[in-house]
Amino acid sequence: THFLSHSLQAKMSRPVQARRLEGIDKNIWVEFVKLAATYSKVNLGQGFPDFPPPDFLTEALTRALGGGNHMLHQYTRAFGHPPLVKVLAQFFEKLLGRDLDPMTNVMVTVGAYQALFCCFQALVDEGDEVIIIEPFFDCYEPMVKMAGGTPVFVPLRPNPPKDGKLMSSADWQLDPAELASKFSERTKAIVLNSPNNPLGKVFSHGELGLIAELCVKHDVLCISDEVYEWLVYDGKQHTRIASLPGMWDRTVIIGSAGKTFSATGWKVGWAVGPDRLLQHLRTVHQNSVYHCATIAQEAVAQGFQRELMLYGKPESYFVQLPKELQQKRDWLVQSLDGVGMKPIIPEGTYFLVADISPFKSDVPDVPNSDEPYDSRFAKWMVKNKGLAAIPLSAFYSEAHKNNYTNFIRFCFAKEEATLKAASDILQKWKQEKNSS
Ligand code: PMP
Repeated sequence: THFLSHSLQAKMSRPVQARRLEGIDKNIWVEFVKLAATYSKVNLGQGFPDFPPPDFLTEALTRALGGGNHMLHQYTRAFGHPPLVKVLAQFFEKLLGRDLDPMTNVMVTVGAYQALFCCFQALVDEGDEVIIIEPFFDCYEPMVKMAGGTPVFVPLRPNPPKDGKLMSSADWQLDPAELASKFSERTKAIVLNSPNNPLGKVFSHGELGLIAELCVKHDVLCISDEVYEWLVYDGKQHTRIASLPGMWDRTVIIGSAGKTFSATGWKVGWAVGPDRLLQHLRTVHQNSVYHCATIAQEAVAQGFQRELMLYGKPESYFVQLPKELQQKRDWLVQSLDGVGMKPIIPEGTYFLVADISPFKSDVPDVPNSDEPYDSRFAKWMVKNKGLAAIPLSAFYSEAHKNNYTNFIRFCFAKEEATLKAASDILQKWKQEKNSS
């Protein structure tokens, strides 16, 4: 037995993880979600609403559960429940002004997350470069790397606001020459996220035109993450890059019922695009996840049918939700500005980035630390003040993490009482600072 246990031990010294996992084992959400769960009294960290989804959606789910169709408890079509892909095709025909085939131009996924995963696995080869605009939703980088690709980063650069005004997410812009310099024959794709998490930037028609021109010129694909497509404020318009000349054939549009209907836990997402791209996403999907929850797809399909009927009308949820969120945004902007935590006014999404510089004296810097200042600040804040937010550096590549360390991101898709509680914490904090 001694010999046996020895040889078993020896066998276990071999590395177990696949090489493609090297360097991508850390994930900021795991860490910050845990910190928020342990310490936060008010959680404006992770992006999800603390208010309920609309009644018509939960009622649709109840109907699906209690109705006579027990087949809704079984597998449905692998690439998307037929009623859902049909209504998504109808909806996107309207938005894009082109005919769509529900069976080949739409695929349902487990949230936008899986749609992204399918894109990178299906379209990116070893050695391919993928351009990512910083700051970015953090999963793009590890997903590119897992596919064997190389992420190439290009930053949005902040332009100082005009005399004393608050900064807007529109003040963060790409340098056209810098962007162009990132495209080469190795570039396979660019990831676009408009409206952008974390800044809330809504890329203008002109900015998208520039990206589109470069994609066409260099025969580059566009993975267009549009999960916040309905969350656009101040009368701004969300432009779909797939509708620009030459772009439909090279773009995958990604969306999320979680964000669209305030039901992130349902994890229903989709990819919309030309069959020449989607056929390869289907290959990844059929060899990994294969089916998504039927009953959630049925309810989301009914939600979209309602929205299709009410399209553009004041009763439409896609009209009402941004109205409500714009008020919440304005409220949080005011309360942050009031305590001197200068907010960058977002044009879209339910996130807001704020400048923590005036609070720096409370959380002294540790020179030469590997951890960016904003990350230490956010950890200190949740532990000592009970308020959870996410450091902006989490949305930058390793090499650029230390370029922007004075900002944290708040999510304002929250009940009034939650936002009020956050504001109270900040007020009290400011008073303590003033009196000390
Ligand atoms: N893309 C972006 C930009 C996001 O912010 C999120 C969610 N935070 C996702 C994709 C993932 O969406 P889902 O929950 O539908 O998987």
